[in-house]
Amino acid sequence: MNSRRVVTGTKWALAFGALAATVLVYRSWLHVNPTTVALTLLLLILILATEWGLRYAVTISIAATTCYNFFFLPPVGTFTISDPQNWLALFAFLATAIIASRLSQRARDEAADARSRQRELEMLFRLSRDLLLQSETVTSLLSSAPAAVLGVTAGRSAILYLIQGDRLYQAGTNTLTDIEIPHLRQLASTLPDVRNSGEETLIPLRTGIRPAGLLLLVGVALSPATANAIAGLVSISIDRAQALETVTRSEAAKESERLRSLMIDSITHELRTPLTSIKGAATALLAGGVVQESSHELLTIIDEESDRLNRLVSEAVEMAQLDAQQVQMHFVPVSVRELIMKSRENCAWVQEEHPLRVDVDDELEIRADATVLQKVICNLLENAAKYSKPGAPVTISAERQGANIAISVADRGIGIDPSEQTLIFERFYRARAQTQGISGTGMGLAISRAITEAHGGEIQVTSQPGQGSVFTVSVPASQS
Ligand code: ADP
Repeated sequence: MNSRRVVTGTKWALAFGALAATVLVYRSWLHVNPTTVALTLLLLILILATEWGLRYAVTISIAATTCYNFFFLPPVGTFTISDPQNWLALFAFLATAIIASRLSQRARDEAADARSRQRELEMLFRLSRDLLLQSETVTSLLSSAPAAVLGVTAGRSAILYLIQGDRLYQAGTNTLTDIEIPHLRQLASTLPDVRNSGEETLIPLRTGIRPAGLLLLVGVALSPATANAIAGLVSISIDRAQALETVTRSEAAKESERLRSLMIDSITHELRTPLTSIKGAATALLAGGVVQESSHELLTIIDEESDRLNRLVSEAVEMAQLDAQQVQMHFVPVSVRELIMKSRENCAWVQEEHPLRVDVDDELEIRADATVLQKVICNLLENAAKYSKPGAPVTISAERQGANIAISVADRGIGIDPSEQTLIFERFYRARAQTQGISGTGMGLAISRAITEAHGGEIQVTSQPGQGSVFTVSVPASQS
């Protein structure tokens, strides 16, 4: 502060000294005409304006005009002017001095402005480069952004606050206290523009026009335009990193989808082919009747187990296709009665072992893919038959429930323990105690649930162990 005052004082002394020296030299030794004096003084004023600014130039202009009048315009040695032309000369001198000073001051200001813009541009360029280098993931960008801002602005600390996720990232010497954080949170969504308070600069961050957060810089003096440009760069970098992550995620999802399809194809081919050969060989040997009694039993096991494996592979593939939404479904109005009759035909063995009652109104219609939904009804009918004693009745009914139609399959079978009633819909799950000796894969209900959900419906069970179960498939009714 003191040294600045000394510099200013020295400049004033030099300016007045130069004026005094010019007047002395021309007055005492060189005795030139007034025009030469005026031009020399003008030159001095222009040099002052260019080098030190308007303040010096205007003050010295007035002093020079006074000296010019006193020392060089007749009558010399007085402040009076005898010839009116000299009045004109004096005013022309003063006006020229001031206008020239202003022009050179403007040139000075513009040069300074251009220099500071260039500095700011360099700073923004360095910041954008640093942010770009760090923007591989949103996390790495966010944790390095405050340090990058600090690096280019040469401040003491930088704090980045993001509204989304209430996240705070800091770099530098100052850290926020627990009292300041809620204040920062509140400012993040309300601060309209850059705010300079003392050493601190608060800059709002935006995504489009939505407030996204706040950048707090300590120990940095920035113009509002530069501050906003920095905030803009930080916001854009965050948006860019987020967009990149989304693209990467969706590409990864596509790739996983592709691998899943490849796996489905390969399972189907690699497992089905040998299974078909095993099954074919076992069936041929059994049919040939040339095998011994002991081998016959083993061959029957091979025959049955290859059937079970075949079914398991088919169901696993079907489940994977449903998961990958590869099953094409065409939803059209379907008569519930017709759907149930078709399903009954598809698993005809059920009614050979159990009396089957159908209690469905003719006019009930749903929006469904009949071929796919038949599998669900068929699976429920088969389960009802499998898990109840031969001869136990099975009832299938349907009723309207609001915008849905609920189709229920009820049996008087072994029932399901309450703790397992949600688990049985998971893939490969088979209820523990009761299913021993009953063949199955544990996939039927998982597939049924996926199909029902694809229809925009749901599947539920109510059951009492030892009393029986009611499975209900609820799907949207047809609008027509
Ligand atoms: P799976 O019948 O091939 O084992 P599901 O997925 O169709 O496979 O059924 C899963 C399990 O739910 C069965 O293993 C059985 O324990 C139980 N379950 C299904 N339906 C019934 C039913 N009607 N009565 C009793 N238990 C059932």
